[in-house]
Amino acid sequence: MTTGNQVATAATKGALTKPPKAFSVTAIRDYLTCPRMYYFARVLGLQRESTSFAGFFGQAVHWSIANWHSLGRRDPVEVLLADYERKIEGLIQKAQADGLTIDGFDGPETLEKYRALATEMFAGYHADPRNQVELVVNEHRFEVEITSSTKKVYLFSGYVDQVRRHPDGSLHLVDLKTGQTRPSDHLLTLDEQLSLYAIAMVRGRFMRPGKPDDENPPFTIGQAPASLSLAMLRDYGSYAKNEFTEFIDDPSGAKVKNPETGRLVKAKIPNPKFAEGYKKGERKGPVFYRTQRSAFDLRQAEIDLARVCGSIRMKQFFRRPSAHGSCDMCRFRAECVQERAEPI
Ligand code: SF4
Repeated sequence: MTTGNQVATAATKGALTKPPKAFSVTAIRDYLTCPRMYYFARVLGLQRESTSFAGFFGQAVHWSIANWHSLGRRDPVEVLLADYERKIEGLIQKAQADGLTIDGFDGPETLEKYRALATEMFAGYHADPRNQVELVVNEHRFEVEITSSTKKVYLFSGYVDQVRRHPDGSLHLVDLKTGQTRPSDHLLTLDEQLSLYAIAMVRGRFMRPGKPDDENPPFTIGQAPASLSLAMLRDYGSYAKNEFTEFIDDPSGAKVKNPETGRLVKAKIPNPKFAEGYKKGERKGPVFYRTQRSAFDLRQAEIDLARVCGSIRMKQFFRRPSAHGSCDMCRFRAECVQERAEPI
């Protein structure tokens, strides 16, 4: 673990990392979580000591689905699973070779649990006729310039999961998600990642895999998406059981405290519909959560993104302590506290 003194030494010795040429959505999200955390990770370049298995799972699922599309969607579903297993094994081996601990990874049990989840996702994705469409973009890298309200220009780059062309010729942006939290309508309307990808479709450059050259030049789309969707792949799973309704306070009025947490224990109320097989076997959700953006919406999102870029360029790296959102999970807690006693 690097100490606060080491942080200060690194800074005074001029070991700061060069500012990146292009911003990314992840960088913007890191900054919005806590600007000081962004500074430790992306300006001082302090090394990560751990990584997460959930992140590997997401990468492996994306990779397998992209391969399936790029090979014409003809492969049986078993190929998706085989691709997934190859990829996840490679990611684990690399992390171990780099000396990183993998958060959330306990060996064969974890592998089995996530393999079952991947199997469910791939079976649903493969059988869903909505996924039998032509992809104009399939995990392609993009670059796009955004302009602030005062005409400052910032370059962004990243990867777009999918742009789909429907039979009527309309284009639809899809971002695949393997996490659990479903988006609210409000979040869909404001999501800066979807907005940035839509701006890239209007005036950005897309690069196919491999080095761009005369044979493989960057291409543009020049058209806004008719819809933007988050595809929540866990929705392809089905309910195994739903024996209880929501947890509610014990209706008898007998309040019992959990001796370990000191919190009131809530009662599970049997669901009267369970005997009829309520929800068992039903798909967990619609998978595609759609939204739209007008030209005005995109301009407002562009101005917001530019405001964040401007703050980063102005080195506004203040602390943003928050128990739930950042500090409790921050890997720079020791540096953060130490640095306050001994400012850089
Ligand atoms: S400990 Fe909290 S305030 Fe400090 S860098 Fe981490 S998230 Fe930010």
